[in-house]
Amino acid sequence: MRPEILFPLFAELTTVPGIGPRFTRLYEKLAGPKIIDLCWHLPVSLVDRRYAPTLHDAQPDRIATLTVTVHDHYPPANRRTPYRVVCSDNTGQIELTFFHVKGDYLARLLPIGETRVISGKVERYGNRLQMTHPDHVVTPDKQDEIKRVEPVYPLTAGVTNKPLSKAISHAVSLCPEMPDWMDRGIMQKEKWPGWKEALLKAHNPDSEDALHPLAPARQRLAYDELLANQLALTLIRQAQTARKGRAIKGNGQLREKARALLPFDLTNSQEEAVAEITGDMEGPNQMLRLLQGDVGSGKTAVALLSMLAAIETGAQAALLAPTEILARQHMESLGPIADELGLKAVLLTGRDKGKARKAILEQIEDGSANMVIGTHALFQDDVNYQDLALAVVDEQHRFGVHQRLALAAKGKSKDPLSGQVAALDMLVMTATPIPRTLTLTAYGDMDVSRLTEKPPGRKPVDTRTVSSDRMEDIIHAIGRALQSGTKVYWVCPLVEDSEKSDLAAAEERFEALQSHFGDKAGLVHGKMKARDKDAVMEAFAKGAVDLLVATTVIEVGVNVPEATIMIVEHAERFGLAQLHQLRGRIGRGADKSTCILLYHAPLSETARERLSIMRDSEDGFVIAEKDLELRGAGELLGTRQSGMPEFKLADLAFHKELLPMARDDARLILHNDPDLQSERGQALRTLLYLFERDATVSYLKSG
Ligand code: ADP
Ligand code: MG
Repeated sequence: MRPEILFPLFAELTTVPGIGPRFTRLYEKLAGPKIIDLCWHLPVSLVDRRYAPTLHDAQPDRIATLTVTVHDHYPPANRRTPYRVVCSDNTGQIELTFFHVKGDYLARLLPIGETRVISGKVERYGNRLQMTHPDHVVTPDKQDEIKRVEPVYPLTAGVTNKPLSKAISHAVSLCPEMPDWMDRGIMQKEKWPGWKEALLKAHNPDSEDALHPLAPARQRLAYDELLANQLALTLIRQAQTARKGRAIKGNGQLREKARALLPFDLTNSQEEAVAEITGDMEGPNQMLRLLQGDVGSGKTAVALLSMLAAIETGAQAALLAPTEILARQHMESLGPIADELGLKAVLLTGRDKGKARKAILEQIEDGSANMVIGTHALFQDDVNYQDLALAVVDEQHRFGVHQRLALAAKGKSKDPLSGQVAALDMLVMTATPIPRTLTLTAYGDMDVSRLTEKPPGRKPVDTRTVSSDRMEDIIHAIGRALQSGTKVYWVCPLVEDSEKSDLAAAEERFEALQSHFGDKAGLVHGKMKARDKDAVMEAFAKGAVDLLVATTVIEVGVNVPEATIMIVEHAERFGLAQLHQLRGRIGRGADKSTCILLYHAPLSETARERLSIMRDSEDGFVIAEKDLELRGAGELLGTRQSGMPEFKLADLAFHKELLPMARDDARLILHNDPDLQSERGQALRTLLYLFERDATVSYLKSG
């Protein structure tokens, strides 16, 4: 349970005095639903109000804080002219101007003959000083209410800085002093402040430098977050590997035959990955390995050989795919090999109903199905495996941890030697090239195999960026290509984040292209029924459809080697990783491929750079690293799909170096104090709760 000391920080925003329901909603959208979320909402710039000259010395176009006496009020002559209030000090005069403000309010705010402290931007008209709508007007005894340096926060429509700052100040004031979880040595070496001090400093920057992600206070807060992340991952890992796996050591015969059946030799990368995986499987612990490989790098063959290693021992293996299309494709490529090997591969998806489904379930249950390929249907309650030893999860980022665990729970076989229930081995695969640093944040110390080389014979994809002004030319060129029997992908733009408008755009483009190319054009999008989608994909892969207009549904895994041209419309709206994934659909066959990135001018600096990276590189890992540099980790990969943790304080574009530090720290901590029982251990538990890693604390013995 969350420690009491944190209760105030996890209160709802409604508990902040002075925020009504409307603002609660806006702040929630902006920062998050809890007090702590406001604390994590750090300023992006500042307003320095320390300049406090006399009126004589006041320089125009600067923010100044002035102590003045109110002289006279001049109400406006008509609605278009301002209400003016003339003030002075011993050295000069200034005119305060207000538009659309009620006179009685101003009479109360600035009573004639009294002294007020005002702060705002000084302007000069001729030789008159003027301030339009001062940001602050207070009596001299309340001067302290004007922050000398005012933090400016990221805002959203309907939210202004002043009330937001106030709410955040309140939130920060609720933060307790806590026993520090930070390693003394690290703190001294890095010259980092304590937690509360760091938070206060981050919210009260005294200079531009203090706003930089590498300012000590900000680094400290980022490190806390990364440490919580690494600690949580290490704990999960510990809990998983503590479960005994079973040693799966086949005789190699199926693998040998399969190699002979494959129409190619494995690349060195593939060989290495297979050796690492089967090595893990043969060991006594549960395997949890990530296979990373760019699109087209040949992960399926690696999965096949791994599955055969399990099947050789008489056990079953499952291959989980995120979509119906992909599951079918796997069945199509692996099914025939299974047949040749005298094995039974079955396909189970959400579409199998009634009798057909029952028959498949029976084969899974009585063990006559050796290889089970499918979608989410694979881990439904009524699916019972006779003896599932290996689960392969393709495109794992499409699945949540709990889904992976649901599948893992299907392996409840007994280890024949020990009689203990053994955990199944798990291989997760991803085509999302993740820079090493990020792998660490998403998977901690999960074992990783990487396919770094592409199968031989691939021709590089010729990538070009073309302005959408040249749409006509493009359509002509496509016409010629279609005539010569080429298949073409046309990927439609991502419109804001509403899927509906994505769809509208795709449909519109489809109609336009259909008017040129008639029935050769097909449309596939995420809102279609699986059956219809498959029918179109099928027609594109094998039939009459030669031009496939698609939203990003084609992103994952689809394999049509005859498709050698891809047009991506509004390419500037896609993330680098997504473009890379999309482009991976072509360049799969023997023929030369072309990818046209259509953009709408004018391009932002970053968009230009992104497109030129795409033009220059086809290496997913290089592209991912560049993406990280260019955009910062938060935006990387389009977080919605990536399954990557989102950090609130750490920005891996800047805090990369802190990550291995946090990993080593986490390892050492758990090595010395596996259940976080020591004094620092207790403080670290609080840290885990602070960053909402509550679930992982349950892996610890209660302390
Ligand atoms: P991905 O890693 O994207 O899942 P696939 O496993 O679908 O890639 O492989 C892409 C294509 O490359 C497939 O057509 C596959 O048959 C082929 N392939 C895989 N490995 C090799 C290899 N070593 N040599 C030649 N072609 C290969
Ligand atoms: Mg694949």
